[in-house]
Amino acid sequence: MSKSTVRTRIAPSPTGFLHLGTARTALYSWAYARHHGGQFVLRIEDTDVERSSEESVQQILDSMRWLGLDYDEGPHYQMQRLARYHEVAERMIAGGSAYRCWATPEELEAMREAQRARGEKTRYDGRWRPAPGKVLPPPPEGVQPVVRFATPQEGAVAWDDLVKGPIRIANEEIDDLIILRPPPAGAPPGTLGVPTYNFAVVVDDLDMGITHVFRGDEHINNTPWQINIFRALGAPLPQYGHCPIILGDDGLKLSKRRGAVSVTAYEEMGYLPEAMLNYLARLGWSHGDDELFTREQMVQWFDGSHLARSPAQWDPAKLAWVNAHYVRQADDARLAALVVQQLARRGIDAGPAGSLAAACALYKDRCSTVVELADWIGMMFVDVQPRAEDLAAHVGDAVRPALQDLRERFTTLDWDKAAIAAAMKEVLAAHKLKMPQLAPALRVLVCGRTQTPSIDAVLALFPRETVLHRLRAV
Ligand code: GLU
Repeated sequence: MSKSTVRTRIAPSPTGFLHLGTARTALYSWAYARHHGGQFVLRIEDTDVERSSEESVQQILDSMRWLGLDYDEGPHYQMQRLARYHEVAERMIAGGSAYRCWATPEELEAMREAQRARGEKTRYDGRWRPAPGKVLPPPPEGVQPVVRFATPQEGAVAWDDLVKGPIRIANEEIDDLIILRPPPAGAPPGTLGVPTYNFAVVVDDLDMGITHVFRGDEHINNTPWQINIFRALGAPLPQYGHCPIILGDDGLKLSKRRGAVSVTAYEEMGYLPEAMLNYLARLGWSHGDDELFTREQMVQWFDGSHLARSPAQWDPAKLAWVNAHYVRQADDARLAALVVQQLARRGIDAGPAGSLAAACALYKDRCSTVVELADWIGMMFVDVQPRAEDLAAHVGDAVRPALQDLRERFTTLDWDKAAIAAAMKEVLAAHKLKMPQLAPALRVLVCGRTQTPSIDAVLALFPRETVLHRLRAV
């Protein structure tokens, strides 16, 4: 791997679905690697054994695939790398940058209690930290030690964040963090303890040659520990870019209750991946005034600059607008296949997708999502129930004889748009009516709605039998 190769990663924890914030940093990491001709790595941070699940891993993989964020390496799983973390921890202990600590949870709680009582900030007091001339007590019997990182006691950690600019945190602000926990009590002999996030992430970023880290700004406070560990290991630092959180449309943090659904839920809601990518990209990054751009353009433009420092607000209306653009642009056959899936979810068997392409072409201009498109196309398969007020308003006695006449003509004509339009014209002339009387009546009876695209085009999409059936009662 050449020194100049850009390598980025996304490192989700499989403790729930891939949420929108992570999808966005995945996108930035991916685009940055692609922009530089580098590599993008997927790592699953599954050390929270209690909360991690296979299902969540699968959901993350599905989301990445749906968004088209292809990775060059991985997924790597942290739980498969335990021996490596132990090896590095041992090396650090031997070199003096880490040490074993036998303090029990009760002891640590008493320590914090005393600190609180003195009005001090609670922090580990370094009781097991070796120091010149310091005599440590013998390790207590029956206590399994943790390993702690010996944070430098002086100086500061400073980095030039790709998003936030220069950040500096004094080392005295941070204490000696636990990097490795013992195996759970009663675990079979040989079971390895699990590393904490800040340690595993450094060993991994180092081993995986990561050069640039984009992640949520909730990790800014972790970064000083990580940088100190990199330094203790004598390793070069990656560059960090901490992206602000995404706010809901109410200005509050996105949460499960407020709009933060999984990426794949957007697929179910009829959004297209290219729209999602475009929208997510703009939510925290800009390229001039461009609102709509392709994946290729993003890769061309995304050089790590112009990332927003302040939180962006999730805007469902704008997402719908972006999606509408991509629905209009999408190939009809592709939309048809998506509509078939949507209809299948509703228990409607729409038959082969190929037969729906023309319908997609006709309706897509009025749809923001594939779900809306499926609403239009679904009326071809499920009998409609015209609303009483629409029937009263549009299917009165004046138009009824014309509808009967038209139905009669429909039984024999060639079933295409031109022939349907011609028959409608003849009927209008014969009954001295105008199109605004006939068309709404047909829309209500055949489609169950008062607005549709040009009715001759709409009717031509239906099987003749369906139209005759829906006009039977006039
Ligand atoms: N597993 C961490 C998370 O999901 C990764 C943070 C990082 O990218 O370093 O928040």
